[in-house]
Amino acid sequence: MAKPLVLAALMLLAFSFAGYRFFLRLRPMFSAPGIDRLDHIGERLWGLVPNVLLHRRLLNIRYSGILHAMIFSSFIVLFTAIVQAFGSGLFPGFSLAPVGGNSVIALLQDVFAVVIMIGVGMAFYNRYVIKPARFKGSNNKDATVILILVTGVVTSMLLEFSFHIAAGGDPSAPWRPLSSTIARLLEALGFEGESADRAAHVFYWVHVCVILSFLTYIPGSKHLHMFAAIPNIFLRNIGPKGQSRTPDPKAAHIGLSDVRALDWKGMLDLYSCTECGRCQAACPAYAAGLPLSPKILIMNMRDALIDETVTHTATAPAAVPAAGSNLEALVGSVISEQTLWSCTTCRACMEVCPLHIEHVPKIIDMRRHMVEEGHVTPGIQDAMASFQQYGNSFKKPPRMRAKWTSGLDFKIKDARKEEVDILWFVGDYASYDPRVQRITQTVARLLQKAGVDFGILYDAEQNSGNDVRRVGDEGLFQTLSEHNIEALGNCSFKRIMTTDPHSLNALRQEYPAQGAEYEVVHYTQLLLELMREGKIAKAANEKVQGTVTYHDPCYLGRYNNGFEPPRQIMAELGYKLHEMARCRENSFCCGAGGGRIWQDDTGVKERPSENRIREALALGDATIFAVACPKDLVMYTAAVQSLAVEDKIQVKDIAELFA
Ligand code: SF4
Ligand code: SF4
Repeated sequence: MAKPLVLAALMLLAFSFAGYRFFLRLRPMFSAPGIDRLDHIGERLWGLVPNVLLHRRLLNIRYSGILHAMIFSSFIVLFTAIVQAFGSGLFPGFSLAPVGGNSVIALLQDVFAVVIMIGVGMAFYNRYVIKPARFKGSNNKDATVILILVTGVVTSMLLEFSFHIAAGGDPSAPWRPLSSTIARLLEALGFEGESADRAAHVFYWVHVCVILSFLTYIPGSKHLHMFAAIPNIFLRNIGPKGQSRTPDPKAAHIGLSDVRALDWKGMLDLYSCTECGRCQAACPAYAAGLPLSPKILIMNMRDALIDETVTHTATAPAAVPAAGSNLEALVGSVISEQTLWSCTTCRACMEVCPLHIEHVPKIIDMRRHMVEEGHVTPGIQDAMASFQQYGNSFKKPPRMRAKWTSGLDFKIKDARKEEVDILWFVGDYASYDPRVQRITQTVARLLQKAGVDFGILYDAEQNSGNDVRRVGDEGLFQTLSEHNIEALGNCSFKRIMTTDPHSLNALRQEYPAQGAEYEVVHYTQLLLELMREGKIAKAANEKVQGTVTYHDPCYLGRYNNGFEPPRQIMAELGYKLHEMARCRENSFCCGAGGGRIWQDDTGVKERPSENRIREALALGDATIFAVACPKDLVMYTAAVQSLAVEDKIQVKDIAELFA
């Protein structure tokens, strides 16, 4: 009778302590602002299959994915041993035998004890021998404690089973090959009968005590993800990827200045982080040497949420307060202003995060706070002033917007005056930047040649506001979008086309929240349609044109799933595509998005665009670096010049490949 009482007392103690620690973690969530994440239950549940059961994102890094799959699957199987240990301890006579506890379950427990130990060994090897750079800034001590506890749970379980078998009369012995083998060794060491039985009891108590220690340790460790991960993945954002949160217009403040003002899902994000560093490894700002690691941003926000006095465990630059800042609580103290201005909003971090943690919305919300407080960089301030005065960042009057058309030998329809099939939203860079204007003209000639009925807004077009919104200037975004929506509302067209992925994102994903829904296509999609309809000649067809590599723009690929049309165009034109390792969802940002193009290179050790050109050169055979975004053309042309590799690789827009 003593055993159930002692076990119940231990459990009460451990559950109370763990429960209290869980409560402390969860308490801020009870009073946090709400967010609707309980829609589309079926879709959410179905998403757990690839994201949890199949480890889809985790397996992108094969070694880590495999070891996690081994530990994860073993935990599920070995949960039966926990049930068995506590069930039999609390209720004498309890047994899993009727459901295979002495046969199949016993066999699985032995097999997965081996699987988990191999997984733990691989994890130790990864952490202490391979030492991936993505672990920099993670809490190594915490990971080690957990691995030791897991080893303790499994070893004590195996020894308990083995001593039981050595004591004799264990009906599960024939189904436990590993435990039986260890039992033979123990017998050889003299453990039989009573002595083995006593040892089995000792390891029983070691086993339950390590499990209970594990339980009490988890709420204060990064392994809180064991409980938070599945809910966080279930509650993931399944809405449009490129649609930012529209703040309540009546709210006194729209930005995020205090971590306690995060909504409850934002807080759950923070508790879910495993510090795996995949986001950090994918981040172009981090690679460039800027003071931003998405992992450490999340860790620091989590630490701030847990402890208002903020005891940081990580020492990366993100934790460094901005000198002279007078912003409160979160921005400027826990997260520096430089950290926030370093982000390109490329979304690479969110795409790789196995827990579906949402970094970018948090960054944008903190930027909104900085904009509200007037804390913006000189470059951003300059660009915003230009938008306010001219509707573009080039400080050019609206009447100059369509000046590029003067280089054409035909007149483009004015969509404000005539009905058109395709309304071409040209965008700022394609309209004003002399380096891009020739591409804009090339696209116009292709459309004209294909007989497309198209027109533009001329001086009625203004910047779409996509990057303005990502900079955090919500008011200016509203002004720009309302202007464009009104201009578009006065036109008659079937579809909108743009060469600019940033405009595409705003028109397709942001404007609908303001009641303006259009069918918006990227020019690569339209050109592919025209090729397939035979309206644009497939240039070479017969012979391979050359080897090209292609850069997926973040706002076309990751945000708008526009991966295929550019590739299909290149294939149909006869080019051989040699992909870079970082392609499609894993594309590496050029460094221009999220307002970075308006800022200087202070603190940059290697420009993301130059890093990317080096990646392309390393392919060895690609002589063309194809792009499908006006900003990419500017960024990569400059990178090729600054690396002085014009003789090795040429930056070309997809439209130029038709020539
Ligand atoms: S959005 Fe891109 S730049 Fe910003 S933190 Fe994520 S990976 Fe880094
Ligand atoms: S945010 Fe996601 S990817 Fe980044 S360290 Fe945390 S769990 Fe890993």
